[in-house]
Amino acid sequence: MVPSSFGLKFSSGPLMKPELDERYSRQVLFAGIGAEGQRKLLQARVAIVGCGATGSALASLLARAGVGSLRIIDRDYVEPSNLQRQTLFDEADAAESLPKAIAACRKIAVFNSQIVAEPRVSDLRPENAEELLGGLQLILDGTDNFETRYLINDFAVKNSLPWIYAAAVGSYAITMNVLPGETACLSCIFPESPRGVVETCETSGILNSAVNFAASIAATEAIKLLTGARSKLRTTLLSCDLWTNERAEVSVEKPRIDCRTCGQREFLHLAGEGRPHITLCGRNSVQIHEHDRPVDLGMMSERLRPHGSVRYNDFVLKFWKEPFEMTLFPDGRAIVKGTTDTAVARSLYARYVGS
Ligand SMILES: [Zn+2]
Repeated sequence: MVPSSFGLKFSSGPLMKPELDERYSRQVLFAGIGAEGQRKLLQARVAIVGCGATGSALASLLARAGVGSLRIIDRDYVEPSNLQRQTLFDEADAAESLPKAIAACRKIAVFNSQIVAEPRVSDLRPENAEELLGGLQLILDGTDNFETRYLINDFAVKNSLPWIYAAAVGSYAITMNVLPGETACLSCIFPESPRGVVETCETSGILNSAVNFAASIAATEAIKLLTGARSKLRTTLLSCDLWTNERAEVSVEKPRIDCRTCGQREFLHLAGEGRPHITLCGRNSVQIHEHDRPVDLGMMSERLRPHGSVRYNDFVLKFWKEPFEMTLFPDGRAIVKGTTDTAVARSLYARYVGS
């Protein structure tokens, strides 16, 4: 199992152990990082919120680069349709419906056992933001929705914590650094959520190379930040279409004075206003997240067995009741597939799990 404690301990001996020297030698040789930069990376504590395509690429790059503590937060489980672009997962993970955070940390432990990768199978919400994101140096965006990004932005601005926005859809990639107190925040640039007009992976599909492009830039910015190369940080919102070769940059060097979030310090998303059920990207599904009630998956499987097909492991329970498929997590959260109607999903949950 992956260790859940945080923080690597360094002795007062040589700067790095010999095996670390060898592992990171090519990166230490890079003048922008060097031995001192590598030491800072090994002591760094970073959260990746969402471990789908972008999150997978970010986690893989930063774990291999030797970021000492990675907390990987994801609410979802691995499915076959993820494998085209979510590079930390394999067919066995999808067959087991493993939670992505667990699968990601297991995979990281195989290629870098010297760092701490801590899985958190959880949906980032206003109530748990402090618990999931507190005490870290940097937050990376691997989410697929603006609601969670605004929540990250609120938390980061309130706590003067840097975060990096990154997203990809179709052949399009976009990224931006947010350094509270210095640069514009997400709300400075997008005062209202672009949801409704914005394309999703479900409507436009996605190229794995667009994901990796956004993640490569965001991971490089993360490394600059963590090694102290702040003068090298990007100061624009960069968007690129890898298919049409279009590219645009907007300066984010200065905050917008009348910004509600970083100017007036109104943290509406952190206060939990207007949080609807979330329809997940890339799937015909609804998440039920109002139940914060532990569920014994073994007992629940007995209860559900007369009503449909059930399968469960330590991490998830799957229940098939045509035309729906419900995935239930031990904290009571559920994802109902086969509908985008929140009322239908809610009634299914109430009928079979409890109201
Ligand atoms: Zn702002």
